[in-house]
Amino acid sequence: MKSRKDSWAVPERLEKAVYRGRFAPSPTGLLHAGSLLTALASWLDARTSDGIWLLRMEDLDPPRESKEAADGILFALDALHLHWDGPVLYQSQRIEAYQDALATLVAKDRIFPCICSRQDFGNDSRIYPGTCRERLIQPDQAHALRCRVDDRVISVEDRLQGHYSQNLIRDTGDFVIKRKDGLFAYQLAVVVDDAMQGITDIVRGIDLLDSTPRQLFLQELLDCSQPRYAHLPVLVDKDGNKLSKQQGAAPVDVTRPAEALFRALAQLQQEPPDELLTAPTQDILQWAVNAWNPGALNNQTSLREIS
Ligand SMILES: [Zn+2]
Repeated sequence: MKSRKDSWAVPERLEKAVYRGRFAPSPTGLLHAGSLLTALASWLDARTSDGIWLLRMEDLDPPRESKEAADGILFALDALHLHWDGPVLYQSQRIEAYQDALATLVAKDRIFPCICSRQDFGNDSRIYPGTCRERLIQPDQAHALRCRVDDRVISVEDRLQGHYSQNLIRDTGDFVIKRKDGLFAYQLAVVVDDAMQGITDIVRGIDLLDSTPRQLFLQELLDCSQPRYAHLPVLVDKDGNKLSKQQGAAPVDVTRPAEALFRALAQLQQEPPDELLTAPTQDILQWAVNAWNPGALNNQTSLREIS
């Protein structure tokens, strides 16, 4: 795939970094304890490797998102001294690049229109049975565009979760690239942007582990190199429920950044010493960079919230 830089570019001094990580929140709400864990872990992983850490706003779904939330996330990261390199990339400004990638997939005969609704898929609505692969569709019928997948196993060696594989035919089916409402799907946008930004290392929540084989598949079709992956355990409350914006998780209190970072480090099993609690924010982060041990999270799927 041709890399199209648009107006986005990392300053030249950062171009040569060997490790290129990123944090890519969707602005559906403010930074909460769960998204702070992802931000902090990916920041630490990049800084420990003398890498760069890029910020991407995954604002592709306007009905669910707001500019206030996007600005609030940037404000929170700044207050926590989790500074990013280069300008923020906004997916809402990348439509042309997604269009190009779609054209590549069309040229490879991978794309077909689908008029199904979720109810058409029977019991397991997460797996598309290929209904529209051969169906004749009128041009004026509302349709999504799906990518035709292969009947073969795709595997990833995750740094934290180990070996993970799917056969896309069996586990997801042909998946959506462009939605019925005209919006590009996350799976395509994330692959196109990771490639354009030259991302080498993805540190993100385990809820995205099952998206990874679809992204590897698209990386192959679009001739993108494959990043390394580390999928973090998800933060759960005392009842074992995932903390999420949808569940009304409270935003991180950024007026007390040291406390928020200390707690996040403890949740990430980094065992910060008590005296750090009263240390300046920069000292906490410096300690954390020196001590960063992602192996403490090996094979864990959930982390208990500390309040
Ligand atoms: Zn269909």
